[in-house]
Amino acid sequence: MRHCGKGIKEGVELHIDHIKPKDLGGKAEIENGQTLCAQHNFHKKTLKQTETGKKMFIRLYELAKKEGNNEIVEFCTNVLEVYEKMNINGHIEWKR
Ligand SMILES: [Zn+2]
Repeated sequence: MRHCGKGIKEGVELHIDHIKPKDLGGKAEIENGQTLCAQHNFHKKTLKQTETGKKMFIRLYELAKKEGNNEIVEFCTNVLEVYEKMNINGHIEWKR
């Protein structure tokens, strides 16, 4: 077990997780597998989804800026500021 080390003994549900996600070409092999507790597995999947979201909002922001669509620029700015404030997917840089 990785991450928190909790297991069945602690009454925690364990999930088999692809270290390299399937949708990124990760294979269903022992080498690419790990067990995660339900909470960390959910957390990992959520961060993957928010990551996709952040990238999408950054692209939308840049497009709206180019087109001078201030309403969409403002909307994306508000969304991305929440990402920044909560340090969600901080590894993805947003250039204002
Ligand atoms: Zn865990």
